Amino acid sequence: MPPRSSPAKLVVDSIEIAVVRRRMRRLRLVVRPPDGHVVISAPQWVARRELEAFATAKVAWIHAQKARIRALPALPSLDYRSGEHHPVWGRPCTLDVVAGTRRARVTIDGDRLLLAIAADADRSARFRALEAWHRDEAAQAIGPLVAAWEPTLGVEVAGWSVRRMKTRWGSCTPRTRRLRFNSELAKRRPELLEYVVVHEMAHIVEPSHNARFKTLLTAHMPDWRERHAELAARPIDRAPADC
Ligand SMILES: [Zn+2]
Repeated sequence: MPPRSSPAKLVVDSIEIAVVRRRMRRLRLVVRPPDGHVVISAPQWVARRELEAFATAKVAWIHAQKARIRALPALPSLDYRSGEHHPVWGRPCTLDVVAGTRRARVTIDGDRLLLAIAADADRSARFRALEAWHRDEAAQAIGPLVAAWEPTLGVEVAGWSVRRMKTRWGSCTPRTRRLRFNSELAKRRPELLEYVVVHEMAHIVEPSHNARFKTLLTAHMPDWRERHAELAARPIDRAPADC
């Protein structure tokens, strides 16, 4: 049993908001694709009244975010079969699934993304093989980028990892100097991965998205806003529900 009841839901300006209690210092409100649902993460000690006030102050912003998400192009549902469009590092590629050994292998041949996998591999197995490859691709690119940007930004990264994330391209824990990157970045242009690497590394210097943070980015990557906008213009692909 939790020590006291925590409201699981709020309604502000007829917007339903899920409340998640977390060990954190500040309130955080997000509007999530693909359906535009709203979530407030808050420390246990923040009263419901305060959460309502916080959300009320952001009503216009929430509506704008919901409108932006509604306007996003619908994601094609993927079956991971030959002929499908699967971009690699921002280049359009066509998936070609060929019967191979039990151990899946992914290679690029011009604009073909070749997946050699057991003939009886199901959709979930094909999805997982491609996902593992995206992770490797991203990891291979991130290593040199982190090493190259460390002296430029004057930071030392303690460690980083790559995983599939639903809502974020990257994250940073400034205290531990650890970074996480989304394996889905391997589908986007390399310049966008570089932006995410620099963005997360800059958080070691400045944890919040304040003026100091933006000045730091601009000093080292003058076109970061364009890269950010390009990244945000397309939502992160969702993993198929059954994979
Ligand atoms: Zn950030």
